[in-house]
Amino acid sequence: MKRSIIVANWKMYISSIADAHILATTVRNNVVSMDKTEVIFCPPSIWLTEVKQIIGKSTKISLGGQNIFYEPDGAYTGEISPLMLKEIAEYVIIGHSERREHFGETNFDVNEKVLASLRAGIKPIVCVGERKKSGNLVQPIRELHEALNHVPKKYYQDIIVAYEPIWAISNGIKGDNASPDYVARVANKLREIVHTDTPILYGGSVNSKNAKGYAERPEIDGVLVGGASVRAAEFIKICQIFNESRGILGGAK
Ligand code: PEP
Repeated sequence: MKRSIIVANWKMYISSIADAHILATTVRNNVVSMDKTEVIFCPPSIWLTEVKQIIGKSTKISLGGQNIFYEPDGAYTGEISPLMLKEIAEYVIIGHSERREHFGETNFDVNEKVLASLRAGIKPIVCVGERKKSGNLVQPIRELHEALNHVPKKYYQDIIVAYEPIWAISNGIKGDNASPDYVARVANKLREIVHTDTPILYGGSVNSKNAKGYAERPEIDGVLVGGASVRAAEFIKICQIFNESRGILGGAK
């Protein structure tokens, strides 16, 4: 059965542990019965332990970090190593455009982080996407190639790709999300670089109104949700939409 992957990137949106607790608990209670969906909570690292406890033994929800450093240990104040994250989480978001933009992450850094996460046994969620709405895919294609430098092909099955056009991120109010047709075409292109089974997600202003369009496309294996992931009711609706559509699509995963 084909399971959709829905990543909740909480970014730095929630400022109290009490709110984080309510969000994780509410979502957990509503998605545990969804058998065609895997939800990955990516809270700020300071709450990973708390959220892990809330997830408990659920097989429908996993935990991911929002970032790691590529060194295994050492004098790197403020950083979290892949080995530390591995003790608690299965996934990590790598190469998010906000890290590239605000923290100067380069394709080289992204590649080092992908290699380090795989070495530690953490599955990387590799984000790629073009800056401008031009239809030019040179940037995401190059970013994906460079992220996978020196990665043996046998590890491609442990990678998730998130296609996140920068122009579509956090644009919910303007409604400028990439169309499902466009994303499906890009997903086909990106899939030529990885493995046919490598999940390819879409991220960029996904909400409960536009989720169905993505859920209905078999080329798109799920979504990475930012803003809408910290609104419990909205996020649960997105998961429901994917869960129901995958029942119709079927598939071989
Ligand atoms: C993101 O940050 O990766 C993202 C997709 O955010 P949003 O859903 O808010 O556009």
